[in-house]
Amino acid sequence: MWRRPPRPSRQSCPERSRRGEARRTRASTPPAIWIFIYFFCLAVLPTSAATWTIHAQPTRLVNGAPVLFQVKPPTKLESLTGTWLTHQLTFSYDKSTKTWFALAGVTFETTPGKYTLELSAQPAASKTPLTFTRTFAVAHFQYPQIKVELTVEKKFTEPNPEQLQQAEESKKIKQDYLNRVTADREWDGTFAAPADAAISDVYGSQRIFNGKAQREHQGLDFRVPTGTPVAAMNSGTVLLARFLYFEGNCVVIDHGQGLLTLYFHLSEFKVKEGDQVKRGQIVGLSGGTGRATGPHLHLAVRWQGTYLDPARLMQLPLP
Ligand SMILES: [Zn+2]
Repeated sequence: MWRRPPRPSRQSCPERSRRGEARRTRASTPPAIWIFIYFFCLAVLPTSAATWTIHAQPTRLVNGAPVLFQVKPPTKLESLTGTWLTHQLTFSYDKSTKTWFALAGVTFETTPGKYTLELSAQPAASKTPLTFTRTFAVAHFQYPQIKVELTVEKKFTEPNPEQLQQAEESKKIKQDYLNRVTADREWDGTFAAPADAAISDVYGSQRIFNGKAQREHQGLDFRVPTGTPVAAMNSGTVLLARFLYFEGNCVVIDHGQGLLTLYFHLSEFKVKEGDQVKRGQIVGLSGGTGRATGPHLHLAVRWQGTYLDPARLMQLPLP
């Protein structure tokens, strides 16, 4: 007497059911056949989970890298949100490819390991939310350990009480503005370089100012003389266009989905706070204001309160 194999799940294979009918009339079929058919059905039939398609770009995720998540859900959705490294993501819909996408990042401090993207969707035809998770591996990238020794004015390393007060005021402005997250996307397509110039210092390098070690470089420096036009990397809204103690004249553009681009040490502003800008629009002229050893453009990319590698953002082909 052989035992009936376990019943298949609700997404049962039609082939399995038909053979089930047959079994009742031909009870002599060997049990091994049923077991084979059962596992065959499990292997080849799509489950509801398998119909989600999720891609990350770049395919190899490292600390400091921006990342584009692209999601094809199993059904038509009204909205899609997610959680990644404790940050909230709001996805945009691209009709032409029927894909939802969001720009996110992996912080500089993220240690190598496996991290889960949790998705929560509101289907168009149902009130019951859908959820799905997918795990991504994050590898470690060793940024250049070049020690850059720089000499700057004393007020930046040993400020007097009045200068300290000015630095504190700038710090408050940065805390207030630079951690803002606008969920709606304003960026459109790939991020462009703000200037056509050589790179003088990369993201992640170690820095020493007047003999004092500072944290790693949080942006990308372009070697440009004073007065060089600086262009917006993508469409967005000007969040800040004002003087800050260390950053000098700085422009910050909010591109939505929690992504900001920052342009430091400018000699002149060409936009004001609240302006809508397009990719390539001139936002200011380069200079050497703030804590700078000479004229250059410091470009930074900030995602939800953390600085990412601008060079990697420019390499990402975006929808
Ligand atoms: Zn810099």
